[in-house]
Amino acid sequence: MPDDDTTPFDAVVVGAGISGLAVARHLQAAGLEVRVLEARPRLGGRLHAAGTPGSRLDLGATWFWPGETRVATLVEEFGIPTHAQHLDGDAVFHDRPTPQRIEGNPLDVPSSRFSDSAMCLVEAVAGTLAPDTIRTGAIVERITRTAAGVRLDLNGGSVTAAHAVLALPPATAVRSIHLDPPLTDRLAGLAANTPVWMGSIAKIVAVYERPFWRDHGLAGAAISHLGSIREFHDMSGPGGSPAALFGFAPLAAGGRAPTPDEAVAQLTEMFGPDAAAPTELHVADWRAEPFTTARGAAHLQTYQTYGHPLFAEPVDGRLHWSSTETSSVAAGHIEGALAAAERAAGAIIDA
Ligand SMILES: Cc1cc2nc3c(=O)[nH]c(=O)nc-3n(C[C@H](O)[C@H](O)[C@H](O)COP(=O)(O)OP(=O)(O)OC[C@H]3O[C@@H](n4cnc5c(N)ncnc54)[C@H](O)[C@@H]3O)c2cc1C
Repeated sequence: MPDDDTTPFDAVVVGAGISGLAVARHLQAAGLEVRVLEARPRLGGRLHAAGTPGSRLDLGATWFWPGETRVATLVEEFGIPTHAQHLDGDAVFHDRPTPQRIEGNPLDVPSSRFSDSAMCLVEAVAGTLAPDTIRTGAIVERITRTAAGVRLDLNGGSVTAAHAVLALPPATAVRSIHLDPPLTDRLAGLAANTPVWMGSIAKIVAVYERPFWRDHGLAGAAISHLGSIREFHDMSGPGGSPAALFGFAPLAAGGRAPTPDEAVAQLTEMFGPDAAAPTELHVADWRAEPFTTARGAAHLQTYQTYGHPLFAEPVDGRLHWSSTETSSVAAGHIEGALAAAERAAGAIIDA
């Protein structure tokens, strides 16, 4: 459990996802005293991976796209290994008892992947922070705006600062952190109704000895209107190693994530008998992660509130929003999380 921090900080950042880490980096570069409080025992939030460093597989974000300059700049600055998404081959379409092969791959677009997972990005940004900036296992439960600044009460202890940054999905923030005094009805409603990007998805990752689907001229891309996993993509490392497929099972409308056995059965139905024996199978159910999707937030589907101008206005000049959902550019993406961080940090530095 964290102890009390007795000295006030210039800013406290709630959440060590990529957005919170990027805020902290900008603020420390401007010479400010910063604390990052992270509820989970790990960093990265919706960037998360399985496996051992060198060949990790993303259980959260997978791709970045041409024109995402903030991600590209970090990749370049830190020399993060990347490779192109595999596109070649035919896709599979399943809307009748037997899946159909369709010529070409209309499902994937040119994009890049982090060869050792998006955790490389997390580790690179976290590695720029002053020692002891981040506390893990620190669950922020209440934020009180005072005349002097903000006071954050945690699962153990409290922290004071001039500014607080909510670097977590707004719908999760307002459901799990008591904000005192309350937000205006308009802002509270906006935050409560802004969906958590990918917050009600299960991501299924299957690892194989080799990318057998490529041998059959398949791209690894597929759409299913029948199984619980609705889309599939090749998620192999550079040159096809490690060989992996991944899929998304949407859960916003209810239902449950597929079990590993159900996932393997659907993979086999889509890609043939070679898919029946993965060497590893992961089911990451993001709807079941309370620090991503707070209870009661999984059904939200109205994405028009992303990047709403109210998220760019600090509450009482002290409480700032920074998560991908609050970004006016590339909201939902890693790029959006980095853009929101720039905006929030800029407002604090200007103040
Ligand atoms: C399955 C999946 C696939 C995706 N695919 C892509 C993709 O291919 N490309 C792409 O660009 N994006 C993708 N995304 C989205 C991308 O992961 C997010 O845009 C990005 O990681 C969001 O970062 P963030 O810092 O805004 O929020 P988060 O990563 O959610 O960080 C919020 C942090 O706040 C912490 N927290 C929550 N509550 C508290 C509390 N009370 N006290 C303290 N800490 C708290 C959380 O533990 C978390 O670490 C995907 C996401 C998922 C889940």
